[in-house]
Amino acid sequence: MYIILLGAPGAGKGTQADTLVRELKLVHVASGDLFRQALGQGTELGLKAKSYMEKGMLVPDEVTIQMVLERLSSPDCESGAILDGFPRNLNQAEALDKALAEQAKAIDKVVYIKVSEDELVRRLSGRWICRDCQMPYHATDSPPRVWGKCDKCGGELYQRADDIPETVKERLGVYFAETAPLIDYYTRAGKLLEMEGKGGAARVGSRILSALGEGR
Ligand code: AMP
Repeated sequence: MYIILLGAPGAGKGTQADTLVRELKLVHVASGDLFRQALGQGTELGLKAKSYMEKGMLVPDEVTIQMVLERLSSPDCESGAILDGFPRNLNQAEALDKALAEQAKAIDKVVYIKVSEDELVRRLSGRWICRDCQMPYHATDSPPRVWGKCDKCGGELYQRADDIPETVKERLGVYFAETAPLIDYYTRAGKLLEMEGKGGAARVGSRILSALGEGR
């Protein structure tokens, strides 16, 4: 099963990916995490992505598409994956459809998590992430049990450099201009599940699971 999580930065894609990975036993493929990993390791890919990420802009398609398709061709993605942060524009969506079709596969569902712009800004500015397992927290909505430490793995929590207000504005602008048109693209393909992103992560998670036919 190949599922795309679609939504603006701060919509809760990472949090919901975590739930889906656990419940559906699928691999989490997050393009932003792949870039941050490359950046941390100082690889050529990381260096190519760095300046775009710092400005909140999209990394060029030729770099991004190759990176994600390579990740999807690993054996652990053979029976499916949860895609988070990719595709982010029409060109990426078409490249993904084409690559899957070549293996007689296809995207099954696209979960679009809808959240208002004010709420997105509020969430991003309070966001803390585990440096080791990438588990997201929020300073007031979902704080860790021990401040600065991940509940799941004990890793150190940090605030992403691109969660500063100016970069958040740029990232949301890019989202509305480039990524939002994918809502139409996947609606036309009959794959879109529109989910209300309000009301707490657990409730959003069970809404998504029932919509995917996995709810209990
Ligand atoms: P994210 O963690 O998904 O918010 O991504 C962080 C940053 O990585 C974005 O602001 C972009 O600079 C870059 N990035 C992640 N995914 C993509 C993508 N699909 N296309 C282009 N750039 C991306």
